[in-house]
Amino acid sequence: MPEFDCQETKRHVHEYLHNELSEQELADITAHLANCDSCESDYDLENTINGVIEQHCSEVPPQQLADTIMGRIRAIQAGEAH
Ligand SMILES: [Zn+2]
Repeated sequence: MPEFDCQETKRHVHEYLHNELSEQELADITAHLANCDSCESDYDLENTINGVIEQHCSEVPPQQLADTIMGRIRAIQAGEAH
């Protein structure tokens, strides 16, 4: 099985976060993330958005949720997460 390239990894980030991949795929993506800053920030972003949605989805109005998510994304893009 070939190693995942960036395109494959970014395409599977969502499934990766939701544990919808095989053990082999998980291992390949974990290995790629460890070596690739670009895919790692994609993963961070998706992970952050997931966390915000899970924490707030039942209690926060959609507009406020969107503002919160955008704030987190800007923080990550500004390098705060690293
Ligand atoms: Zn990559």
